Amino acid sequence: TTQTEVDLIGKFEVLPLYKPRDKFSHKGQFGHALIIGGSYGKIGAVTLASKAALSSGVGLVTAFVPKCGYIPLQTSFPEAMVISDAEDEFISNIKFDTEPTAIGIGVGLGTEAKTIKAFEDFLKANKKPLVIDADGINILSKKKTLLKLLPQNTVLTPHPKELERLIGSWKNDFDKLKKVKAFSKKYNVIVLIKGANTITVIGDKMYVNSTGNPGLSTAGTGDVLTGIITGLLTQGYDPLAATVFGVYLHGRAADITVEDYGYQSLIATHVIEALGKAYIDLF
Ligand code: AMP
Ligand code: MG
Repeated sequence: TTQTEVDLIGKFEVLPLYKPRDKFSHKGQFGHALIIGGSYGKIGAVTLASKAALSSGVGLVTAFVPKCGYIPLQTSFPEAMVISDAEDEFISNIKFDTEPTAIGIGVGLGTEAKTIKAFEDFLKANKKPLVIDADGINILSKKKTLLKLLPQNTVLTPHPKELERLIGSWKNDFDKLKKVKAFSKKYNVIVLIKGANTITVIGDKMYVNSTGNPGLSTAGTGDVLTGIITGLLTQGYDPLAATVFGVYLHGRAADITVEDYGYQSLIATHVIEALGKAYIDLF
């Protein structure tokens, strides 16, 4: 067995990662994020992830949704560009002619047979850095052969149930860590173990996050995290830095949010709105 190296991540660990903006910057320097997901009744997940990507600092964001998502997304999020699938209620064919810098896929996606085929075709064609969440992970769990198609250091952001589908059940926390490490090494991916003190696992290294609180146990906060990590990847952070910094900012934004809303009333939108303060609070 190999030794696991563990780092605890707080402000002083993420500060050196931070990329400042210079006075003469323009939006072309901060990349173009693409968020792919949504199905009938779950367009909000894509809206949250896209908003979080933009608020993390990207220059441009495009959302790819089924046709029923086109109007709600454009209406609730005017800063985004939207591409819609030919199908109304779910994604059936992932085709776009923009050149995204990085892609986040899976939130609200559903697991219709046509969506699974579209996801598979997308993975075969894709060369961009990737974050995969939610139903994207559920599809990978059903079709393990797809894991070989992922770019090096693709970021997987499962919640506990999604993680269990992906790696199988575990006997205890040590067993869980062992399984996640083995999975990360086998497929060359970064895997999050989400929850209180989210852990980023890359091979034998683990990064334990120190921010966040039980206010995050609410709908849509995972979608926000996916958007933030995709947004940081888009801005040129390498996959590990994007993940560790993204998890930190997400938790810090939630810690700032609870001062106004408490644990019970925090909703995912508040976390996006507090991202600015989480950045400012670094200094
Ligand atoms: P999801 O289940 O995909 O919506 O993701 C939930 C998000 O909220 C993840 O980023 C979790 O780490 C975070 N979260 C949930 N419960 C807690 C908690 N008790 N303390 C800190 N973070 C949490
Ligand atoms: Mg989720």
